[in-house]
Amino acid sequence: MNYVSTRNKDLRMTPAQAIVKGLAPDGGLMTPGVIPRLPANAMETMKDMSYRQRVVYILNSYLEGFSSSELNNYASAAYGGERFSDPDVAPVMQIDGTTYCMELWHGPTCAFKDMALQMLPHLLSASLGKSDEKKSACILVATSGDTGKAALEGFRDVDRTRILVFYPKDGVSEIQELQMVTQEGGNVGVCSVVGNFDDAQSGVKALFSDKRLADELAQRGWFLSSANSINWGRVLPQIVYYASAYCDLLRAGAVGKGQAVNFCVPTGNFGNILAGYYAKLMGVPIKKLICASNSNNVLTDFINSGVYDRNRPLHNTISPSMDILISSNLERLLFELSGRDDKLVADYMAQLSENGTYRVEPALRDRIQKQFYAGYTDEDQTKAAIAEMWKEHSYLIDPHTAVAFHVLEQYRAETGDDTPTVVVSTASAFKFCDSVLDALGVRAPKKGLAALDQLSDITGVEVPAPLARLKDRQVRFNAVVEKKDMEIPVQAFLA
Ligand SMILES: *Cc1c(COP(=O)(O)O)cnc(C)c1O
Repeated sequence: MNYVSTRNKDLRMTPAQAIVKGLAPDGGLMTPGVIPRLPANAMETMKDMSYRQRVVYILNSYLEGFSSSELNNYASAAYGGERFSDPDVAPVMQIDGTTYCMELWHGPTCAFKDMALQMLPHLLSASLGKSDEKKSACILVATSGDTGKAALEGFRDVDRTRILVFYPKDGVSEIQELQMVTQEGGNVGVCSVVGNFDDAQSGVKALFSDKRLADELAQRGWFLSSANSINWGRVLPQIVYYASAYCDLLRAGAVGKGQAVNFCVPTGNFGNILAGYYAKLMGVPIKKLICASNSNNVLTDFINSGVYDRNRPLHNTISPSMDILISSNLERLLFELSGRDDKLVADYMAQLSENGTYRVEPALRDRIQKQFYAGYTDEDQTKAAIAEMWKEHSYLIDPHTAVAFHVLEQYRAETGDDTPTVVVSTASAFKFCDSVLDALGVRAPKKGLAALDQLSDITGVEVPAPLARLKDRQVRFNAVVEKKDMEIPVQAFLA
């Protein structure tokens, strides 16, 4: 199977090329030429498989040129051994008669980005060998916290790759900073940038577009690459857990053969929920995909009105991984639901970049609404959802997951739909101790690492091991650079 650009179907690549390039040269997103359909008995077949076997089963149909035994090795490296604290990798918990919660935060960084960033490096490293790329990849990341750490963990000690992460000196939490500066691995680097996330991000963008730097690094055998969520290698591993959750419900007898379920997903860049839509296209019985936003509700407005408009202020919320105004992966959904109309998608994206807004035609808006429901929460509702979940079910959730639970309540009140629904939980509550302690009504919250123990003492829930271990870790990185000097650490790193 070939991959095509969402802005020009004649632009084709092999799976390996699509993963190495990340983005199409026309700015479009590389997307499978066709979405494969699972055989009719696939859910029955996968039901008794381990998570790793399910990974191989799903990925096989997307990655021509990769053998099952290769994929099996990558799945073992990504999800096996000690990497995930839960043997089921993405376990599904029952909350009440029709509500379930899939926990995607048992990986090394305690957030859902591990699900993809544990797998992507192996796919990328293998893809370098399968395409005619002779150089090795240096991944540059600008992070507001979560992605940087997840990428460091994923790429550490992976062949033919190095990874250098820039974070804003004043823009990440103490725990997030400690997670990064204590990172282990022989091919990793971490550097803070004076300023905020925008400074770090625009600095990295400038490095990517610096032709002279690219030529110089090429002579030394390196090219710069990114690990961001528009790379197909990040979307693909996420399809697996939607199928996996369904199989778990089937195995537990919670749903009958072919009975549909909903998924409710806390959404930022639209990568996670898009994978759910692909799972549906493949044949996983899914009825509605519920798109949950925080007060940055650009997607709620879009799905409800057909108008995408990024011309609005960005709010800093207690669910910071969803503080986004441009949801890049939406482009792939428009491509699918417009009947793969590449010209139309290119036109919408041109309008977005020129004016920050576009309006989709009514027929397309209706098709989107048939598949998706959208809602959002404000900060008080998010905190109330954390408190209520703890009080009613003794179940501890983080602010991103809380957004989803609250929007699910809105959906049910509005539609009366009692279809079994899986809420997708994207982070451990311990990653956001301050907000969670506040939501639980703790008057004198502790700071930094002490807050981990405080939350654990109050709830009786154990601190996840990767966070508990931070106390004993050595700080390995302490460089700080000005934005204008960000090339210096890159040069030193690849010298
Ligand atoms: C990245 C992230 C999200 C948003 O996921 P998208 O794929 O960008 O929609 C939600 N919650 C957490 C904790 C995240 O890290």
